[in-house]
Amino acid sequence: MFEIGILIAENFNALHISAVNIFSETNTNNSENYRNKINKTMSTGTINVAVENIFPLIKKFLYSDHEIFLRELISNATDATLKLKHLTNIGEAKVEYGNPIIEVKIDKEGKKLHIIDQGIGMTKDEVEKYINQIAFSGAEEFIEKYKDTKGEDAGIIGHFGLGFYSAFMVADKVEIITKSFKDEPAAHWTCDGSPNYTLEEASKTERGTEIILHISEDETSFLEDSKIQGLLNKYNKFMPVPIKFGMKTETLPKPEDAKEEDPAPTQEVDNIINNPTPAWTKPPTDLKDEDYKSFYRELYPMQFEEPLFNIHLNVDYPFNLTGILYFPKMSKDMQIQKDKIQLFQNQVFVTDNVEGIVPEFLTMLRGVIDSPDIPLNVSRSYLQADGAVKKISSYITRKVADKLKSLFNENREDFEAKWDDIKIVIEYGMLTEEKFFDKAQDFMLYPTVDGKYFTFAELKEKLAAAQTDKDDKLVLLYASNKDEQHSYIASAQDKGYEVLLLDSPIISHLIQKLESSKEKISFVRVDGDHIDNLIKKDEEAISKLNDDEKETLKTFLTETIPADKFTVQLEAMDSNSNPFIITEPEFMRRMKEMQQNGGGGMFGMGNMPEMFNLIVNTNHELISEILNTKTAKKKERLVNQALDLAKLSKGLLKGADMTSFIKRSYEMIK
Ligand code: ADP
Ligand code: MG
Repeated sequence: MFEIGILIAENFNALHISAVNIFSETNTNNSENYRNKINKTMSTGTINVAVENIFPLIKKFLYSDHEIFLRELISNATDATLKLKHLTNIGEAKVEYGNPIIEVKIDKEGKKLHIIDQGIGMTKDEVEKYINQIAFSGAEEFIEKYKDTKGEDAGIIGHFGLGFYSAFMVADKVEIITKSFKDEPAAHWTCDGSPNYTLEEASKTERGTEIILHISEDETSFLEDSKIQGLLNKYNKFMPVPIKFGMKTETLPKPEDAKEEDPAPTQEVDNIINNPTPAWTKPPTDLKDEDYKSFYRELYPMQFEEPLFNIHLNVDYPFNLTGILYFPKMSKDMQIQKDKIQLFQNQVFVTDNVEGIVPEFLTMLRGVIDSPDIPLNVSRSYLQADGAVKKISSYITRKVADKLKSLFNENREDFEAKWDDIKIVIEYGMLTEEKFFDKAQDFMLYPTVDGKYFTFAELKEKLAAAQTDKDDKLVLLYASNKDEQHSYIASAQDKGYEVLLLDSPIISHLIQKLESSKEKISFVRVDGDHIDNLIKKDEEAISKLNDDEKETLKTFLTETIPADKFTVQLEAMDSNSNPFIITEPEFMRRMKEMQQNGGGGMFGMGNMPEMFNLIVNTNHELISEILNTKTAKKKERLVNQALDLAKLSKGLLKGADMTSFIKRSYEMIK
């Protein structure tokens, strides 16, 4: 019996990170910090770690999720295979590489799980070196040793030299039976989870490694086919070496002379659970539109809608990152769309929580990102501060912006057709990422209520003449609902104005930002005031009523109309404009909306009652009639009817008010 040793070296820091992380979710340590701390508190010396104490710790707490043991062991099997591939490529291993696969086998009766590879294998000495020293990474050593032969490009996954021991999270006893590609006898290592192990020669003759896990009593779910199938599908679906899990039946084409009723012949074949060459690992030039679409279906088999377009990420300096992002059709509900981007490292699935790695507005997209450069054994808050991660995040933002710009330039019509489905992402991005805001000026579209689309520059040029007010400000009129604001849109259009249709839930926030970042423009919703007030020109309005008449009218209306709901405002307008118009001042409405949609700093605004103005057009015939009608009852009836009509066109007439309006209207036409 021998004792397992722990390598007190660089990698101990990694061990520290992983182990500490389990105890504190908000841990912000990293190896650098840790080293500094040590340097500060002691001048020289060696840290003593008692193996008996550390081993159970690794066993229990190294990873919070027990299921990742399978990912780690398959990663090791993959590394072993890729190492052999590299060594045969550079002529250092003089053996046939062949078509190696990895096999996962359940032995239900023996309560064992086997992971078998045909990779590089280990000699007895190598087992001593790589397995018996915890936190010594053979993977890192390999990359370092073969860096002159591009060993760092071999796709090796391992890193900290801790993965193997995750096996003890689910197994009481672990065996390794391994035969190196070198001409040396096989080795058999056994360890029962204490720091004691045995190592002896074995009779295995074929190259490769078999790991045998004696699954512990409380982890027997890992002996279920469906459980293992699920894990393989989650973590290993795109790993680079074929992984076999059982057999499957394949239907063959019928022979030419087969009769109609003859069943198609079948054969038993290896059930390979992964696609070793997923689309993102291929150069973009090798992929057609259809390849991207079929990869999307592979990623989201339950998703029947096609993606709108994709962005292929591919960079190797100053960090390594590949991936494909898809723009799906967006619904208005932004929340439920998250958690759809999958993060991989060298084709091993890591997580579908990409918060902190991808800018928030892009978490609404789908697809995969693969980067070995994202530190994962650290907390999220540390991640956000990490320099490499920041660069990755801004690279992704830039790629997305560039793609949108080229789509806009290459096929504007198509871009316009997709606008409704992609605008949420763009608007949210403009609101939250300054760089994206700047870039988006080239492709952010402003649709009109009649289905035309303008960029901001085009809008400015087209509308400057008609819609610049007396203070030299360009007023952009918009509606948020074509039907509900129809009469307001109509009166703006009568004046020859263009009305935009801006209906996203976050539009008030974006408008606010646009107004403060651009000079001399303002946005107003068409029902913010009557049209002559929305775009104020220098023309002097002439009123049919004299001051006395105005006074009388105002007094009467204020008494008749509920003052808690409407503020009466007399205006001399075009005699063709409606006599009563209900408006909702832009500023108050916008603040209220911003508050409702999560705007900070406006606490309480969301609970404010709605404030409306009642604009009375003193030049309209009906107003003169109201003024001149002698009988109080008739006068009141006219006012109520006109008010109800104004409410109706603002969508405010409901309930009992609606019922009495209908009744009154019937009486009037009797
Ligand atoms: P890492 O993968 O980070 O190096 P592990 O603890 O997962 O650390 O594995 C330690 C080392 O053990 C590996 O680097 C490798 O040298 C060796 N090893 C583990 N599994 C195998 C295997 N299936 N075939 C060959 N060598 C292996
Ligand atoms: Mg490993």
